Amino acid sequence: LFLTFEGGDGAGKTTQAALLEEWLRAQGREVVRTREPGGTDVGVRIRDIVLHHRGHIAPRAEALLYAADRAHHIETVVQPAIARGDVVIQDRYLDSSVAYQGAGRVLDADDVRELSLWATGGLLPDLTVLLDLDPAAARARLDADDKPFDRLEAEKAEFHERVRAAFLALAADEPNRFLVLDATEPALALAERVREAVASRLS
Ligand code: C5P
Ligand code: MG
Repeated sequence: LFLTFEGGDGAGKTTQAALLEEWLRAQGREVVRTREPGGTDVGVRIRDIVLHHRGHIAPRAEALLYAADRAHHIETVVQPAIARGDVVIQDRYLDSSVAYQGAGRVLDADDVRELSLWATGGLLPDLTVLLDLDPAAARARLDADDKPFDRLEAEKAEFHERVRAAFLALAADEPNRFLVLDATEPALALAERVREAVASRLS
């Protein structure tokens, strides 16, 4: 089973991924929790490039770097885990590329999606949880957590508005793959909704 969490910065993806991992492990499931960008040794170096040079990389080059990270990660970590029958919980996947490199950097959404599908041999998640949050609320949340290098500051507010709208449009296009949750709800209430959706997909 391949599960992904998507949403803007500060929406609580990492928290929910950790809560889901704990719940699955308590049931005796084998779980691989991973992330993009940076889910492999090669990916950590690509992550370093894309984050340190954000805003100064040609958009197509940025899209290719994310795709390269993804290709290596899916082939060396995710596909082997799926083949073993493990549950894979992943923080960000192709929808982040369609939203950030597509809508954010204004590349064609279909091109970005095709690039990602080429990179991964067409792998799509069984379930994608979208944690939807207004970027202004996300900013307040990151400030409250005293994140020293507010990552949202790297881009203008409109960038994050486009990213949010793109995620919601993706979810509307694929209602069976997506579970859209209001990220302002308490973490434990969200975790319960996620568990229900995962339980219905576990054999
Ligand atoms: O989710 P995480 O905090 O690891 O993401 C790191 C940064 O990379 C975030 O600020 C996110 O906006 C950015 N990102 C991106 N395009 C992606 C994935 C992440 O711009 N496809
Ligand atoms: Mg996170």
